[in-house]
Amino acid sequence: MYPQTDIKSYMPVKILFGNNCVFNNKDVFKQTGKFPFIVTGKSGAVKSGAFDDVISVLNGGPYILYDRVEENPKVSDMEDAAIISKKFRCDYIIAIGGGSALDAAKAIAVLAVNNMSGMDLFSKKADAALPVIAIPTTSGTGSEVTPYSILTVDEWQTKKSFAGDCIYPKIALLDPKYTFSLPIDYTISTAFDAVSHLFESYFSLKSNEMSKMYSQEGIRAFAKAVDAIKNRKFDEQSRSALMYASMLGGIAISHTGTTAMHAMGYSMTYFHGLPHGFANLYFAEPYFRHMMKQEEQKTKTVTDLMGMTDLQSMINFFSDNIPRPKLNKEQCERYATLAMMQSSIKATPGNLTKEDIVNMFKEAGRT
Ligand code: NAP
Ligand code: ZN
Repeated sequence: MYPQTDIKSYMPVKILFGNNCVFNNKDVFKQTGKFPFIVTGKSGAVKSGAFDDVISVLNGGPYILYDRVEENPKVSDMEDAAIISKKFRCDYIIAIGGGSALDAAKAIAVLAVNNMSGMDLFSKKADAALPVIAIPTTSGTGSEVTPYSILTVDEWQTKKSFAGDCIYPKIALLDPKYTFSLPIDYTISTAFDAVSHLFESYFSLKSNEMSKMYSQEGIRAFAKAVDAIKNRKFDEQSRSALMYASMLGGIAISHTGTTAMHAMGYSMTYFHGLPHGFANLYFAEPYFRHMMKQEEQKTKTVTDLMGMTDLQSMINFFSDNIPRPKLNKEQCERYATLAMMQSSIKATPGNLTKEDIVNMFKEAGRT
């Protein structure tokens, strides 16, 4: 049968990608609402130039600015921000920044129109939120097109995500020039987050013919930035390719979620401080070796799309570009237990057991 899988696909975000897209689509702001609550981090929105562009197209119209979102935003801060938005009766949100600002905006959007506490976000299903216009200034999370928000919960000493159709942004405005100011290390670690979404969605047991199409095109786009990553030198072309790849990665994981790489990566961030994208690709060697056994054809396709001569060259590309903390036996056991608690393990081909995951930690952590 063609297609070979059943199809389940939903993408309600209006995507506007291109140079000067904020100016070229200025009508979307007044079409979305009258009084925006602008959500940004402390510096990225301004350094990127996106904030000035938005203020310019608002053309003197009123807005309230919340510019205090921190990296890995805390749910308690989102409650405070929502109180301000409610007080001023803002009717839509403009989120400018990396995944942190965009995820924060999604939480504020829900809290501003529902009688809920921040912690309720993780246990109650909201079906209403303020509309969000998302303007990314990093190329990594794809949050501008996903129904996910990831927040830090201090009480639980961890990060927790919530999801819902109502938090898909209404509009995503993607202009690659907003990433020109992003420092090199952030550019590479966020790019690795994007490509891990593309890989994992492609291999996921939840993938279908349409989601794989997004993954393949995204990997092809990422490949155009491989030399820039190797040389740590980014131009307009490579930054544009990465923003496109990141957006496609967001669409891909909106269909499938992630797999074992993300499940294992969380411990490398939490206990070793590795940036999220590096934490995922820390497992490149054992993950791709496992996939070669389970999904040989898909692994070969990915290697080809990446423009690599063979699997080992692809693994080396990632390994050469990330920090490699060593892990001892006790750490491998402990982190594997945590990884097994993630539902994304089950979406990984090959019925992974705890022992398989321990071995992946050992293989990645032996350097
Ligand atoms: P980020 O935490 O949003 O930003 C990283 C840093 O880059 C911040 O210090 C930020 O500064 C700065 N920055 C951002 N854009 C800049 C620019 N153009 N020029 C200069 N500096 C800039 O990083 P991220 O990787 O994009 O997002 C990570 C968050 O997204 C995590 O919380 C992660 O869990 C989450 N995530 C979400 C999804 C999803 O689907 N929703 C998927 C994966 C990950 P300021 O803070 O000062 O502005
Ligand atoms: Zn990720």
